[in-house]
This record gives sequence, structure tokens and C-alpha cells, in this order.
Amino acid sequence: MLLRMKNNHRLRAGAPVLWLALVFCVSVQAQRQPLPQPVPMPPPIATPVDKPYVGAVQLSVDLTNNVDRIAHVHEDIPVERGAKELVLLYPEWIPGNHSPTGPISRLGGIITTVDGRRVQWVRDQINVYAFHVPLDPGAKTVGVDFDYLSPVKRAEGRIEVSDAIADLQWNEVAMYPAGYFTRQIPFDTTLKLPNGWKYATALETASQDGDVVHFKRTTFNTLVDSPLYAGSHYKRVDLSTSAANKVFLDVFADEDKDLAITPEELDFHKRLAVEAQKLYQSHHYDHYDFLLLLSEKVGGIGLEHHQSSEDGGRPNYFTDWSAGIGGRDLLGHEYTHSWNGKFRRPADLWTPNFNVPMRDDLLWVYEGMTQYWGNVLTARSGMRSPEATRDIFARIAANFADSPGREWRPLVDTTNQPTVSQRRPVSWVSWQRPEDYYTEGALIWLDADTKIRELTHDQKSLDDFAKLFFGVYNGSYVTDPYTLDDVVKALNSVAPYDWAGFLKQRVYDLHPQVPDEGFARGGYKLVYTDTIQPWVLKAEKSSGNADFSTSLGFSVSTPKNGGENAPSTITNVWWGSPAYKAGVTPDMELVAVNGTAYSADLLRDAILQAEKDKQPIQLQLRRGDDFKTISMDYHGGLRHPSLERIDGTRDRLSEILAPSKAPMPSE
Ligand SMILES: [Zn+2]
Repeated sequence: MLLRMKNNHRLRAGAPVLWLALVFCVSVQAQRQPLPQPVPMPPPIATPVDKPYVGAVQLSVDLTNNVDRIAHVHEDIPVERGAKELVLLYPEWIPGNHSPTGPISRLGGIITTVDGRRVQWVRDQINVYAFHVPLDPGAKTVGVDFDYLSPVKRAEGRIEVSDAIADLQWNEVAMYPAGYFTRQIPFDTTLKLPNGWKYATALETASQDGDVVHFKRTTFNTLVDSPLYAGSHYKRVDLSTSAANKVFLDVFADEDKDLAITPEELDFHKRLAVEAQKLYQSHHYDHYDFLLLLSEKVGGIGLEHHQSSEDGGRPNYFTDWSAGIGGRDLLGHEYTHSWNGKFRRPADLWTPNFNVPMRDDLLWVYEGMTQYWGNVLTARSGMRSPEATRDIFARIAANFADSPGREWRPLVDTTNQPTVSQRRPVSWVSWQRPEDYYTEGALIWLDADTKIRELTHDQKSLDDFAKLFFGVYNGSYVTDPYTLDDVVKALNSVAPYDWAGFLKQRVYDLHPQVPDEGFARGGYKLVYTDTIQPWVLKAEKSSGNADFSTSLGFSVSTPKNGGENAPSTITNVWWGSPAYKAGVTPDMELVAVNGTAYSADLLRDAILQAEKDKQPIQLQLRRGDDFKTISMDYHGGLRHPSLERIDGTRDRLSEILAPSKAPMPSE
């Protein structure tokens, strides 16, 4: 790649005279040497067609080697009569990841057989996710065995398996035949669990024999969309709102003590299911399972599915409820995806199988509106107070106000980021604004909600849009695709307005202003104060992450399990902030503040002191072996963002965040 670029550069940039001279300098033989030409590409992998596959794939997954974090897979795949080869695909484009993140690099020991006789597979030269298995006439069944080698160290990826918990995503442990829509490929699936482990999944169990579970036949689509949690410390809680709307919370933890749920916490979760029913006036699942793991050992996650979600939190999720206010919208967000993202899905993001590329341009609806409803439902259910919810919105807006990336990158382009970086972290978040379609989407939908309320004299709201857009085909979980036009039409049928222009300006045009008109229309304004909100302080003490983004312009992380002298690391520096200008980079250790070992409280005191006495703040930093003292002439105070009431205006934001007055849907 690099060589080719250099050659191109020389040909284009070199003066003609120099180029001619070079030609004469080489021998006469070189003049006759033909220039290289590209070799034709091999034929592409078969395009998927919408017809039933010849038979059911038999899939067996053995999870018993959880010590080594290995799943062993065996599949028997019937083949079409007379076919010359079977092409096996390993899923590449993973729903919810919005990107080609199928972990193909984690496979080992791939062995294929045809009717029991070993036949060597050949990987496709272009598509490394495709394996060609040659077939003789009369071949009936291809067998494939492989090991899925789940990460053992954090540096290899998210830890999915521990001695007590496993998060099993079927797309990681299955190959499927190319050439068919995955909704047309039936799978009979068997799972062998570690001794005595319990499991939870949206899949239906056909039978269980000790640690071996046989699931009812599903399509490959539904299988991939129905991950399974298993483990030795498990509790199942019923959150159903009626016999027709069955909802469960399936909790797996490192230890039994983390499964203790208070009656109040149980009530919050039940109310979440109620509020979602009132909002969407429908459900799109047979039964919904919140798969929730609480672990220090298995990595956190939030991944949506039609009839379940993979959720991950800290072990203190139930045992220290007030420590987790910041991330409390996790379940509300993932649950909302059952309607927005799974049932209604952008038409160009829907794909017929897991190896056709997705197009992500409407993620500001898929994720952005989900971010909005996730926060609103979390408030309506009582899981997070209206005050803390307003703080969250204020923090989003304040973050954007300090993010100069808005001056070069339209919001719609950030929807390309899952494919651009595949969720790897970037160094300068505020300059690149990698995935702002989530939180900026939330502000835009608040803007739209308050606009509808204003236009209709508070007779209608975005709740009416939700009912109209997501409330169709009650009970169905067949994806119903939509386009931008469909979104605009639905908005117009709730409240006629130039919604196409409204969205174009905020999403598709360069829009450096923060889209925070929803605050004023909601009856509030963004203000900055020196007073840290108690829930923010509590979250900081619990997580070890301290945020100085709106003051000095950085955030700091002190690992909680690192002991007394754990180093505190700068995790993010805001582009153009005082810290950025002073030379602070997002890899430095923050050693001391004004000559005393760093703590977040100490730095807050120093900022308040500098606000009063106008003296610079001295930061001692370390980058590798180099120590550096930086003098920061900053006197602007702590600048904690919050929302303040505008007197004499309608408090629409409180109306949005209050429990819904809508009736429960009729069954
Ligand atoms: Zn999401």
C-alpha cells in the first residue's frame, strides 16, 4: 500500500523532464517490459436470495471449557443436490454493532468434512469470512468443527466468559451457507453448559438433559438475534405488565450477594415495562428478556435484540443503586431498541444476511431517538430523578459547546464512525466527534418533541409520533423498514411543519450551534455553577472517573481496584481547552496539584481557589519517564452544567419526564 502511494506520487509530482531522464537512464530492455496489469478478481460470493434452504443446520456448541474461555462448535449442514461447492460464511456485519466486527480472528481448529470424510476448505481470497468446501456429486452433508477462542486478556477484546458467567453470541459460534436470506435457513441448536450452570435467552427450549439444552428450531436470523447468558449465580425476575406482555429480568453476577434486589428497585424495573407500553402502545416480542450481567470480570455491554438485550453493569448495580445514576438509562435504551432499531429499522441498514454491508446514515434516528426515549423512560419509571435527567441533558449540551469538531463534521457523517473505527477509541474526541449521533440525536429529538408541543398548544407530543411509528403490527417481530421520508411524513401527520428542513439543518448541514432549542421551549436554560451535583459526586467516588471537561478541559480516571497509590490518568483532553493549550495530552498521568498528590476533591478546591485569588494552578504530570509541571492560568471556576427554570414559561421538560398519563394498550 505504501509503495504504491509513493509511486503514484512520483509519477504525478515529478517534472516531465526528470521522468524522461529516468527512462533513458534505464536499459533499452526496460522499454520493452510490459507494465503490470491487474489479475481479474475471483467470482464474488453468491448474492443471498429469498428462498428456503434445503434443510436445517444442526449446530452444537460446547461451553464446558469456560476455564480457557473456549467454545467448541460442530455443525452439520445439508447441501443442495449436485452442488459443486458449499460456501460457508462466518457472520461479519453484526446487528447493533452497525459495522463489520464479526471476530473472525478468534477462530482456530477449523476442520471440514463431507459425508464424514475430511475435505480441506479453502478460504476466499477476497472475503476472509468465506470458506469454500469442494463437493463431489452426491454429497449430502458438510460437517464443520472449530473453536471460538474468546478473549482471555482485556487487550484482546471484551471479556465474554469468566469462571462464573458466559455471554454467548450465536453469531460468534456459527457459520452458515452463502446464497440465502438468513431468515430462510433453519437451525436446530444444542448447547452444552458447564456443570450446574443456569441460562437465560429469548430462545425457546425444546428439552433439557442435565447440562445439555436443545432449543426449538429457529431461523438463523432469530438465533443470532437471541444471545444467551449463562452462569452459576442467577436470579430471574418477572416484570410482565399482563399475560400478553411478558417481560423478564435475568440477572447473572460474579457472586450471589450482588443479586439482592430491593422492593423499590424491583418496582422501578416493573414501571419501566409499564411506561414503555404506554409510550409505544404495542410490543414486538413473544416475551422480552433483559439479560443483565453484573461483573468485574466479564466486560460491560449494551446490545439490542428484538426479544432481549445484552446488558452489563457493575457488581453494585443493585447493592449501591445511587452510584449508578449516570448510566441508569442502559435498560431503557436497549428496551426501546425492540421498537426502534429492531422492529422499525432503516431500510438501508436492514440486510438479508450477516455478510452484506449495512448503511448507517439513519443511525441518528435508530440510536439518537433511542437515546432520547431511553432517558425519558428512565425518568418516567422513577429509575432516575427528573433533576438528574435534566443534569444529563445539560452535560450533553455543555460537552457539545466545547467540541470544535462541530465546525467541520456534519452530524450525519458521524454515523459512518462505527465502520470507520469499529468502536475503537479515538484520541481527540471533541475534535473528531466520533459517534455524536447518539447524544446529539437525543437533543434533536428533545428539540422536535418540544416543537410539536408548541405547534399543537401542548395537545400533542413526540409520544404521538412513537405510537404512530412504532405501535403498528402489535405483537409482530418482523422488521418493518423505513426511510427518512417515512419519518418526515409521520412527524407531519402529528403536527404539520417543515420537518424536512428542520432535520436537514440539524443533521445533514454543518451545524456548529448546539441544537439546544429544546431547553428553552421546555422552560429551561443551560447554566454553569460551582456546585457539583450530589449524584455526580457519588458516581465519581464509585467509578474513579472525574470530569473537568467544562473547566480545565480534561477528564481523569483513577482505577478503583488499583489500591491506594493507583496512578490517575488523563483520559480525554478537550480540543482548544485551557489544558489543550497548556500541552496536556490524553495519555498523561496526573501526579499532583499545587505540589500535593492528585485527588479530584483537591483539584476542585484548587480550581475554586484560583477563581478567587487569580493565581495559576500548578499541575504535575508524567508522560512515560518525563515529568512536567504545567502552570494553568485558569480562573473560570468549576462550571458544572445544569438546567435552570426560565420563570413564567411552561415547564414542558417536567411534563415530558413525568409518568405517562396514557392508558395501557388493550391486549
Ligand atoms: Zn443503542
